[in-house]
Order: sequence, then C-alpha cells, then structure tokens
Amino acid sequence: MSDGCDNRCSYCTIPMIRGPYRSISPAKVLKEVEYLTAGGVKEIVLVAQDSCLYGKDLDGNVDLADLCRLIARVDGVEWIRVMYAHPAHLSDDLMDRLFAIDKVCRYLDMPIQHISGKILKKMRRHSKPDRIKQIIKRLRNIDKSISLRTTLMVGFPGETDDDYKKLLDFVEQTEFDYLGAFCFSPEEKTEARDFSEVVDSQLIDERFELLIDVAERVASRRAMMQIGKKQKLLVDWLSADDSACYEARSYRQAPEIDGYYKICNGPNIHPGMFIEAVIKDIDRAEL
Ligand code: SF4
Repeated sequence: MSDGCDNRCSYCTIPMIRGPYRSISPAKVLKEVEYLTAGGVKEIVLVAQDSCLYGKDLDGNVDLADLCRLIARVDGVEWIRVMYAHPAHLSDDLMDRLFAIDKVCRYLDMPIQHISGKILKKMRRHSKPDRIKQIIKRLRNIDKSISLRTTLMVGFPGETDDDYKKLLDFVEQTEFDYLGAFCFSPEEKTEARDFSEVVDSQLIDERFELLIDVAERVASRRAMMQIGKKQKLLVDWLSADDSACYEARSYRQAPEIDGYYKICNGPNIHPGMFIEAVIKDIDRAEL
C-alpha cells in the first residue's frame, strides 16, 4: 500500500534505497484488491515500511483505517491483515478505528526493536517504552485474544547488560505470539555504523540465543492455549510434506511467517475455503 520510508532509524538503509514514503492511492489499492478477489483471494495483507503512516502524502484525508474500511466493502474480502505498524505512529484513535472494522484480523505486527529507552533513542525509533507498553495494553483491551507479532534487535551499540535484561524481562512479561529477532549488523552509510560502544560479537550471539529461547518458550505457551479451541481456518494449499493434508491458518497467523495448522481429514477441502476446526495439537511454535 506504500513504498519508501521517511523515518530515519539510525541503523537502516531502506530510506536511502527505496526513497521517501509514497502511498499508493486508495483507487489503485482497491483495483488490485478487486483483481485478487476475482481470482478467489479471501485475505488481503497490507504491507508497507510503516503502515501507520498510510495516506500522509495523499490529498483527501485518508488513513490506514479509512483504507481498511474501503477494502472491507469489496466483495470476497474476508480478512484484512496489517503488517509493519510502527509504534511511534500508532495513535489510540487509529487503533480504535482499525479494530472496529470486523474484517480487520485481531492481529498486529508491530516491530518495536527494543524496550530500553536509551537504545530506542539511539536507534532513532521515536517511540518510548511507556508508550509501547500502553499500546500493547490497549490492543489487549480491545480484544484479549489479539495475536501480536514483533521484531527485536540485540547487540545495538551501547546495549548494556541492564538494557538487555530489560528486553528479556519485557519479552517474558508481554507474551508475544510471534517474534522475529536480529543481531545488530552495521550497514554501509548508516549513522549506527560509526557508533562507539560496539558490543562484542560473541556476546551478541549469546544474547540472541537466550532471547530466542525465552521467546520460543513464551510463544509455545501461547500456542498451546489454542488446543481444544474451535477456530475458523483459511485453507492455503496442500501440505508440502504430506499430500493427503492441507495447510491452513487462523486469524492469529500471517501467511508464511507465523506457521500453520495441518488439516488431514475433512471432506471436500480445497484451497481458498474457510473451515471450522478444533485444534488438536501443536507441533512447535513458529517464530
Ligand atoms: S527500520 Fe523501518 S521504519 Fe526505520 S528507517 Fe528502516 S524501514 Fe523505515
């Protein structure tokens, strides 16, 4: 729904590569949605470098929630999923209007990168720990079973043991359903490349491994809570490892990154259909 980015996170080259933020007009987005639904697509996944800023460069006062409302009216659209919601630009009003739309999945991908105020400032994320926590609380107040994904970075220059502990504690307490983690790596022409207080690479690896361990434990616990529940699932395709089964997802799982459920015995199942299924078991949590 847009390309480019005007944020200037100190570690990121994307604004240099992809240029300034440019929203695709609602008319063009709707044309593509109509084309996709005519081909049987049921789920629209909205992707941008910063989805919360959708429309800021367009005339006509349209924002992300307005766009979702327009998409929801297109025949055939059943689910709308929002990825890459930057916490610095996710206002209470936007959250409330977005999740008031029935077809918007109770799911949000919100990359926060860190939870230490000092590190967020050095990353130039323009988001503060208290606000990030408030957003998560509000999202869970909107729907306590909302599925949350985030992305974190470890080993940013200046990350002390104390900053890292804050991050680990936060991951343990916040209970994200899905989490992607990266080790800091200095990119050409970025400000962070010249930062002092570089964290030792072995220590970065250790921090990364421990973070993944904690995140996997939390995500497994969250995933297990689905066992025994009846879920509406969207059938994606035949299983890659068992041609007698299909892979399907609930609203809690974005395609290709959040895992899937395997459906092995149901009559007349085919890709693109919704089914109701009781979750019998969880193999492992996908992160
Ligand atoms: S990390 Fe994301 S928000 Fe920050 S500059 Fe890069 S693309 Fe933009």
